[in-house]
Amino acid sequence: MAVYRDHAIVLRARPYREADSLVGLLCREHGRVAAVARGVRRPKSTLAAGLYPFSHSVVLLYRGRSALETVTGAELVEGFPRVRADLDRTAWAAAWTGLAEELFSEHDPAPDAFAALHAGLAALDGGAPAAGGIGLAVLWRLLEAGGFGLEWEHCSACGEATAGRPGPFYLDYGQGGLLCPACRTRTVPGAGLELSAGAVQTLAAWRRAEAVRVAAGGAVARQIEQATREYAAWQLGRTPRAWKFLDQVARLDGRVPAPGARLEG
Ligand SMILES: [Zn+2]
Repeated sequence: MAVYRDHAIVLRARPYREADSLVGLLCREHGRVAAVARGVRRPKSTLAAGLYPFSHSVVLLYRGRSALETVTGAELVEGFPRVRADLDRTAWAAAWTGLAEELFSEHDPAPDAFAALHAGLAALDGGAPAAGGIGLAVLWRLLEAGGFGLEWEHCSACGEATAGRPGPFYLDYGQGGLLCPACRTRTVPGAGLELSAGAVQTLAAWRRAEAVRVAAGGAVARQIEQATREYAAWQLGRTPRAWKFLDQVARLDGRVPAPGARLEG
């Protein structure tokens, strides 16, 4: 039994019992944590301000015998209010936090995932549009932090560099990575998801860059979104719940969900 303190991104909060909430956190040092925040829905709760979804807070957690930990303190560091004020940004932030919940086991340290979420939320809060870059870049950062990163700079079969090559390339995730046209023809003709040279270079740049601000527009973003959805679903063995809200928002806007999107509801 112990009390510990950590920086956390609030992944979700949902009502529990009369005045409590169940919160999902991604802590910088302690990884993902599920905890109960007692009395947080009462008007004078001192915890409430620090436990809104997508906030960055310093939390105090008590880990007792029960599977569920208890939040005993929460001090808001950054609320990222502009994320919650905009439906598109909210949908992308929910996709990130939802994927983080599905990717990381409780108490598995995931400092890179914390950093990716934090950078993404700060960028959205700073006014960057989610679509066409940051939204997908952060999803890849999370996949990478979860051990599902892919090598974009070389063909996974022959090792030849992708930079400066015309493409297209093929993401054959069953075989473990990206294939150049020659290797795809030689090993598994017809397999894999086609990615243009531009899409591959964008993914490589996201992987290299410290920042998440490498933008991708139009056709490149759509190709990457389809690849991201299919790859994440394959790795998780199911369609991530994370896409659900994104698809709902896309339908509200009258946009057509990316190919491979599963329409629900
Ligand atoms: Zn090759």
